[in-house]
Amino acid sequence: MSECIFCKIVRGEIPCSRVYEDDKMLAFDDIQPMAPVHVIIIPKQHFSTLLDIDVKNINVAGDLIFAAQKVAKLKGIDEKGFRTVINCNAEGGQVVFHLHMHVLGGRKLHDELG
Ligand code: 5GP
Ligand code: ZN
Repeated sequence: MSECIFCKIVRGEIPCSRVYEDDKMLAFDDIQPMAPVHVIIIPKQHFSTLLDIDVKNINVAGDLIFAAQKVAKLKGIDEKGFRTVINCNAEGGQVVFHLHMHVLGGRKLHDELG
């Protein structure tokens, strides 16, 4: 997906503040943080939305969860607590159409991303 912002981040064409990376996933600080910790986790493979996850690629869902655990530990918010959010399509608040999970924390959370 040559024009996708998050694919450009995966390819290094747009810089990011990297938090965690492995062969399948990349996590970086959100450019407009809604909380003291606000990290975006993406699969390196392009999926437009949550609806593109099916039985053939269900591992992506688990990989996102494992990456969220790692990010929470790296950011030191695992014990106090954090929130994960995946927005899907327009009314779900999705703006970037490359599947991603938000990890929010660092203070008591209210209605961020609502
Ligand atoms: P969505 O509303 O699609 O769930 O969330 C997209 C998120 O990506 C937003 O929180 C937005 O601030 C973040 N974002 C958009 N473009 C960039 C970018 O170029 N770099 C980074 N680090 N975050 C971005
Ligand atoms: Zn993409």
